[in-house]
Amino acid sequence: MKPTGPIPEGFTARDHELVVGDEKVGALAARAGRTPVFLYSSARIEAQIAALRSAMPERLSIHYAVKANPFAPLLQFMAGRVDGFDVASAWELEAALAAGKPAQQISFAGPGKRDEELRLSVQHGATLNCESEGEAERTLAIAEELGCTPRMAIRVNPAFELRGSGMKMGGGPKPFGIDEDRVPALARHLIAAGADWQGLHIFTGSQALDADALIESQANVLALADRLAQDIGAPLPALNMGGGFGIPYFPGDTPLDIQAIGDALRARFAALPDSLANTRFAIELGRYLVGEAGVYLTRIIDRKESHGQIYLITDGGLHHQLAASGNFGAVVRRNYPSAIATHFGAEPAEEVNIVGCLCTPLDRLADQIAAPRADRGDLVAIFCAGAYGASASPAAFLGQGPAEEMLV
Ligand SMILES: *Cc1c(COP(=O)(O)O)cnc(C)c1O
Repeated sequence: MKPTGPIPEGFTARDHELVVGDEKVGALAARAGRTPVFLYSSARIEAQIAALRSAMPERLSIHYAVKANPFAPLLQFMAGRVDGFDVASAWELEAALAAGKPAQQISFAGPGKRDEELRLSVQHGATLNCESEGEAERTLAIAEELGCTPRMAIRVNPAFELRGSGMKMGGGPKPFGIDEDRVPALARHLIAAGADWQGLHIFTGSQALDADALIESQANVLALADRLAQDIGAPLPALNMGGGFGIPYFPGDTPLDIQAIGDALRARFAALPDSLANTRFAIELGRYLVGEAGVYLTRIIDRKESHGQIYLITDGGLHHQLAASGNFGAVVRRNYPSAIATHFGAEPAEEVNIVGCLCTPLDRLADQIAAPRADRGDLVAIFCAGAYGASASPAAFLGQGPAEEMLV
């Protein structure tokens, strides 16, 4: 028997069936017309944002990193509830604009921005987080050609990184951002060239569950921003402090203490150096805002035994939920939180393996878990599916096609 990750708070049962957004999953699957379907609970997202806002200093803006989940109805829902969107491609920029987010509240980061992407961003007036000197020059040239003033910030590749983060995105040689010692010269150049100077973006890592590591990282970010602003010789208009807030996916993971982070940040904001006294501060979060609100719902299409092991074979799989299969950046495969959704909360009766329908041994959703008896037709829920699910999985692999998605 192997353990599973913790089921996120807020999911209940009615008549032994999982409820998402006040409706039983069977009815939701019927409404979707087919399985598999990703269900995103708007109430769960709302509650997450409210809790975060109450823990963080009022001065801190909260941005949503669109790459976590770019589903159009979800973006529309988020647009009115967060202060900014962070995008990483022209497609995401268009999606953010279509969701009703004004360009002034959108920033565009990401290495390898094409000229067309820079042009689109400059035309709309989104903030471009420059990732290299070359990109900065191309942006200035495109803006000149268009006759507009580009809103520009610099993404810094800091010399430190977020301790314990799942994905490291700073420290040492990186394709992201500009090494910190080269930032002041470029910033002065952008200001002299007439760009609308928007300040700095410092992202140090992802999926941290250790509040102390995040507090340390934020302190490092503020100290670095102060040093750079002094070197640039101008106060910093805005600082995107990055994010990195993680969610519990696996056995033993515990929720992040956001109150501790908010308290530490409030204390720092109360004693800011002159260079940051009038700065607008933001954090950018993806999975923390939407990850736990999502459930991937898939139906059992076969039940079989092999060498004493029970296999529940579903109509879903890694082509929709790559991360749950353990093939999206995991070193060791561990079980995501999951449940038999049509016997939710029932006592376990047997050990089962829940797999997808793809003809590859990689397609595992839950290994050797304890579960109530389930048969063909029952529904399986994989939790923590609101971020890096549908859009971060190889939907074309083996021809089963994409999953449905619903905001409920
Ligand atoms: C991916 C990414 C995020 C969001 O990461 P999460 O772990 O989902 O919060 C934020 N900022 C940048 C620059 C990113 O690349």
